Amino acid sequence: MSGQGRSPLQQAETGARALESLLGFWAEAGVDTAFADEPIDRVVERPRPQPSQAHAPAKPPPAAGPDVSGAIAEARRLAGEAQDLAALAAAIAAFDGCGLKFEGARQAVFSRGIADAPVMVIGEAPGADEDMQGQPFVGRAGKLLDKMLIAAGLTDRVFITNTVFWRPSGNRNPTTQEQLVCAPFLERAIALVQPKILLLAGGASAKAMLQRPEGILALRGRWFDWTSADGALTLPALPTLHPAFLLRQPAAKKRAWADLLMLSERLDRPERP
Ligand code: URA
Repeated sequence: MSGQGRSPLQQAETGARALESLLGFWAEAGVDTAFADEPIDRVVERPRPQPSQAHAPAKPPPAAGPDVSGAIAEARRLAGEAQDLAALAAAIAAFDGCGLKFEGARQAVFSRGIADAPVMVIGEAPGADEDMQGQPFVGRAGKLLDKMLIAAGLTDRVFITNTVFWRPSGNRNPTTQEQLVCAPFLERAIALVQPKILLLAGGASAKAMLQRPEGILALRGRWFDWTSADGALTLPALPTLHPAFLLRQPAAKKRAWADLLMLSERLDRPERP
């Protein structure tokens, strides 16, 4: 589309939106690492490194992130004490071991849906609307998720939660450490709800739950086994595209729809392979 008749500001805004959408597309596709922090102009001629520089010791690898083992142990203890979902919600809200809580989140966002649902939908992290309302998937992406669940006949058969329970600032993806700290609560939720199937919405959810390196476009629409940390429980898990991604890439909706149909089929006819 040409920029004729549009002010430079409008053109810049359109450009920024297109860039944001493109970055979102790559992030959802699992491309979350740049080769270098700064672009390299390979056309410009540069002096070759001198031997002493070329053999300089490699930089140490970046630190693996803060040690969260204490916070995980505390989360595991608190989660284990929760005998029902209300107690688990209270334990999450009182827990101070996840840094996200102190990044500007208004409140903990745990769950919505049916307490003994056969399907547990696990998203990535609460966004701005969820942070305001205290429930997962209540913004634009959540509305789309609800529409899809209605169309697939799953509305009253889902329990919805996330891999972390506080909104990451600026809607960034949660870090591995943040997900690890929240995992005991999520596992306890799975143990209390006892779903038959997990639906993993988006790359950050699929990666955390399945610990697989592939991006969501490679994982979606395939069945995996999720196993709890203590090895006591194994459930079928289906990664699918995140509804926020579908809002940006409506052409991908048919793939998410195929995933939901696959899930309903397995739910209602579990004896079939
Ligand atoms: N995206 C998510 O992954 N979870 C929410 O709760 C909302 C948006």
